[in-house]
Amino acid sequence: MIKIQSVRNHIEKLDKRYLWHPFTQMKEWAERHPLIITEGRGWFLKDISGKWYIDGVSSLWVTVHGHRKKEIDDAVKEQMDKISHSTLLGLTHPPAAVLAEKLVKLCRGVSRNAPAKPALCRVFFSDNGSTSVEIALKIAFQYWRHRGIEGKKTFLSLNNGYHGDTIGAVSVGGIDLFHDVFSPLLFKTFKAPSPYCYRCEFGKKASSCRLYCLKEMEKIMHKHHREIAALIIEPLVQGAGGMITSPAGYLKKVRTLCSKYNILMIADEVATGFGRTGRMFACEHEDVIPDILCIAKGITGGYLPLAATVVSEEIYKAFLGEFRELKTFFHGHTYTGNQLACAAALANIDLFKKENTLRRLRKKIEILRKGLDKIREFDHVGDVRQKGFIAGIELVKNKKTKQAYSFEDRTGWKVCLKAREHGLILRPLGDVVVLMPPLGISREELKSLVRITAEAVRIVTGQ
Ligand code: PLP
Repeated sequence: MIKIQSVRNHIEKLDKRYLWHPFTQMKEWAERHPLIITEGRGWFLKDISGKWYIDGVSSLWVTVHGHRKKEIDDAVKEQMDKISHSTLLGLTHPPAAVLAEKLVKLCRGVSRNAPAKPALCRVFFSDNGSTSVEIALKIAFQYWRHRGIEGKKTFLSLNNGYHGDTIGAVSVGGIDLFHDVFSPLLFKTFKAPSPYCYRCEFGKKASSCRLYCLKEMEKIMHKHHREIAALIIEPLVQGAGGMITSPAGYLKKVRTLCSKYNILMIADEVATGFGRTGRMFACEHEDVIPDILCIAKGITGGYLPLAATVVSEEIYKAFLGEFRELKTFFHGHTYTGNQLACAAALANIDLFKKENTLRRLRKKIEILRKGLDKIREFDHVGDVRQKGFIAGIELVKNKKTKQAYSFEDRTGWKVCLKAREHGLILRPLGDVVVLMPPLGISREELKSLVRITAEAVRIVTGQ
């Protein structure tokens, strides 16, 4: 016990002396004892004192089949016995080539019902969601140059959108809290309204608006399509913007508008990909085929950093030419297509089939839905949004008027701290409590997760 305490103190000291945590006010961090995670198993995380917690946000939306999944562990170890890393710049290797084929096959699901449209067929690897987006933006931009259309040099993105933290990704982002400070650094983009029905930008009601926000999007496209290289969108769920779920039919109509105005469609499925919404990719729900697909997070089952930008044949072909023509895509990261990460991804994808993950998820999605229905009734729960295994519970001070809690109250954060006391790790987005359990979670633990969340909301909001 004394030993654990002294190790704990040592790690805390090192952390507070040397580490700078992401999205964290470090002054506040320094005033608290951090939770130190030392182990994971299935859908649980263990802290240094031996207490286990349910991993309610899949270690930031990445864990799929669980922590320490034997098949993925073995695949990574086996690869490690051969080689851990060699470059894809000028060389190739089996895990990257085999994984590229697997991803293209997975993407067929996206295009199943529309075979006439160009399928996604080329994979450009990188190592995180932001880079997959940077690559998509640069490819879209360069594509139009190769087509001899010089005017298309900006992008259309959505309010409340989040695509990562690099400058390009922030330029197409739409979350003022995160992005405003960097505005002098960003390139110009057009912003379409967010399909945030609970707080509609136009004061309309979802039941009668007939997707009015799309009319506004179309106005921008109509006026500026000659300048817009691509639209970037998080299909079905705007994640970091507050788990904002778009109404049925919205995504399909966005696709139609992009085609009508000759604007490439980039689907950022970094958060929604790999089963999160109940299908392998969110685009499948509305039979939408983007021109470019960004994937990361769940691609390795939550094991190692890997991302991919998958593009249509037409886009890919525009980059082919003699070297002197300078059609090459001059972009690449050092760890692009790292072997260990690719091996983890291959094992992760195989597990979907082996364990019937998506079919078994259906019942669990229902369990989550039923639990959320009860939480929806609480006095300080304004809105509950769910798509598959993604859920957001929006807390409000006044349910009738939708008045938000004050920013300083940190109500969402307090709910998560309370849940932690009861053995559940959550991380909010402002006053939206996020639930993102690993897809492999057992039904019993899923019920515990919902029960603890409800209890934490009840205690903190004084239900
Ligand atoms: N795109 C979306 C939709 C995301 O949700 C995220 C991260 O949450 C990113 C991009 C950025 O991914 P990363 O944090 O791996 O750079």
